[in-house]
Amino acid sequence: MCIFCKIAKKEEKAYVVYENDNVIAFLDINPLSKGHTLVVPKDHYENILEVPSDIAKDLHEAIKVVCEKLKVFSPDGFNIVSNVGSKAGQVIMHAHIHVIPRYKDEEGKPISFGKPIKVDLEEVYKALV
Ligand code: AMP
Ligand code: ZN
Repeated sequence: MCIFCKIAKKEEKAYVVYENDNVIAFLDINPLSKGHTLVVPKDHYENILEVPSDIAKDLHEAIKVVCEKLKVFSPDGFNIVSNVGSKAGQVIMHAHIHVIPRYKDEEGKPISFGKPIKVDLEEVYKALV
């Protein structure tokens, strides 16, 4: 059983800040900012794209509840991010959404993904429509 399944089943400790029948939210053990929380479906899906839409609705509701709770720290914004696949930095292969409060002393820089690439946007656009 994966670590997030164990947390969902209360077989592993976590700082749970919110839960309902389908979803659990707990503090990230390696936070990128004060209050960094993971919102996780209790059932095991490999990534956010595998999560059924009815459960995704619960995830969205939980994100809103968690953001409301995190307002106690007076954040100035949030990054709400889900990594899909190891090449995108996913390490825990159980779907989860990072809720990362951001603060003005962080100079308003986004969570960094490294250098932007040079690409012909017109070409990209044409391939997509
Ligand atoms: P990702 O790279 O998107 O797969 O993110 C996985 C996140 O899970 C990382 O930010 C880790 O710090 C966090 N994490 C790993 N194990 C635990 C745990 N036992 N409790 C809370 N957070 C965890
Ligand atoms: Zn799992």
